[in-house]
Amino acid sequence: MAEQNNFSGKILISGIITLKTSLHIGRPQIYAEVFGLSGSIIRDELSEAPYIPGSSLKGTLRSLLTKANNKNVSSPKSIHRCTKEKEYRKCSVCNIFGLPINIVEFPVQPGRLIVRDAYLTGESVAEILKSTEIPYTHLKREVALNRISLVPTVREIEIVPAGSEFAFEFIFDIYTTNDLSLLNELFIAMMLLEEDYLGGGGSRGLGQVRFGQFGRSKDGLLDFNQITKGLKVEYRSLKYYQEKAEPVVLIPENQHIGLPKLKKQFKTLIQDKVKLG
Ligand SMILES: [Zn+2]
Repeated sequence: MAEQNNFSGKILISGIITLKTSLHIGRPQIYAEVFGLSGSIIRDELSEAPYIPGSSLKGTLRSLLTKANNKNVSSPKSIHRCTKEKEYRKCSVCNIFGLPINIVEFPVQPGRLIVRDAYLTGESVAEILKSTEIPYTHLKREVALNRISLVPTVREIEIVPAGSEFAFEFIFDIYTTNDLSLLNELFIAMMLLEEDYLGGGGSRGLGQVRFGQFGRSKDGLLDFNQITKGLKVEYRSLKYYQEKAEPVVLIPENQHIGLPKLKKQFKTLIQDKVKLG
């Protein structure tokens, strides 16, 4: 995995992240003190619309894959990082998500994955603004019990409503065919995320997401069996950037392909359509 190889190209995975339940990605407390309640979640500085920071999405995927691979971390909040070259060469977590070059004494390759910030789609912006109390968000009221005095208090959490749709993009560097196994690990992390949560309040049901856009049943509820826009996957070789080749669309979004199907079909698809280094 960690040999010095020549860069072959990039895989772009894009589509929609749909909120199955409401989302709270918090900002440091100081924002809430300055801007009031609408300062308690991450918002785009210009539009004031909430978004999912790429760093937050990437960090969650990293932590889920760390757990899945039984990698040791010194505390629940610390990040796994390989300290020995032999271990690093076999470690999908450090190869996908990167290892800072200044903390180890062996050669490392840049992490394969870039995760862009995910912004609300235009359709979603219009839809949310029709129904929310504060622009783009609701206040969820919860009863909290003080653990010492046992006095109940009501606290408010600012949330982006369920059903909101964010456009995401992952960019994955490919050096050799070995990297396809790493990409498969990314798909595993994405599937694990669908069973986990993004942001805060996960133990109270917040932050559940699905990759893809979905239809609604007759009663207006989201129907996760009815995928209306799937994931799109494209391969761009180095030659594409040198203007000597066209990108190869491996999976168009109108094929309505969700995550499990994508994971199953991907290796065969790319090996049929693309000659990797
Ligand atoms: Zn590692």
